[in-house]
Amino acid sequence: MIIDCHVHLRHGDEERNEYSPEDIVGVMSATGIDHSVVFAMSCPTRRSIEMASAAARAFPARLIPFAYALPGGEGSVVAELEEAITRLGFRGIKIHGGECDLSGRVIDDVLGLAVEKQVPCLVDFIGRHKDLERMARGFPGLDIVTAHLGKYLCEDVELIDRFIEVACRFPRVYLDTSGVVLDGKIMEAVGRLGASRIVFGSDGPGPRTDPARTAREAIERVRKEGLGADEERAVLGGNIAGLLRL
Ligand SMILES: [Zn+2]
Repeated sequence: MIIDCHVHLRHGDEERNEYSPEDIVGVMSATGIDHSVVFAMSCPTRRSIEMASAAARAFPARLIPFAYALPGGEGSVVAELEEAITRLGFRGIKIHGGECDLSGRVIDDVLGLAVEKQVPCLVDFIGRHKDLERMARGFPGLDIVTAHLGKYLCEDVELIDRFIEVACRFPRVYLDTSGVVLDGKIMEAVGRLGASRIVFGSDGPGPRTDPARTAREAIERVRKEGLGADEERAVLGGNIAGLLRL
């Protein structure tokens, strides 16, 4: 079973590309993905909840909704997030360091809610490993899924190594494989952390001309690392299934 932990209903790219639930399920069917975590970004929390909620209602057996936390502008978003989790069945929270200040003053009430509700946070730290370390230390009961092993399309070996080192010290830190371009790095992370802490993500869909390409290449990237069969199964789906209690 393949579970994609990182799929955008709305991307944070320049065009703010949106993909419908039908587009996403089409990509999943074309690439053999059984379930996907879906969320929107580059929009207010409330809108992200509307979009992911509609997607999960359309495909309840395939799509798993996460809410996008964008605190800061107009007061707390905790009440909206709490409602999404408790009333609408949302299974986690997405946070992006490029759109949201990750300092405690701004984000800690969101992290506290995630601990209370025992849902994971999928966080793009945009290369800032100190933010990951602060969160992991401050919230030992929080499952943190670190997007892209730490930074999207990162060719800086030392930077990704810093993220792996932080993950080594905090057992509830996970790393997602989306947007990884360093050959062998996923295998190395599995070797250092154990396969149980690496989770498959595509960061799809895209591009418009071939929406399944990102997911196809993301699966290939994991498969070509040469993991053992059990490890590969865990990374491609088993681990996130456990985290989300599927
Ligand atoms: Zn993403």
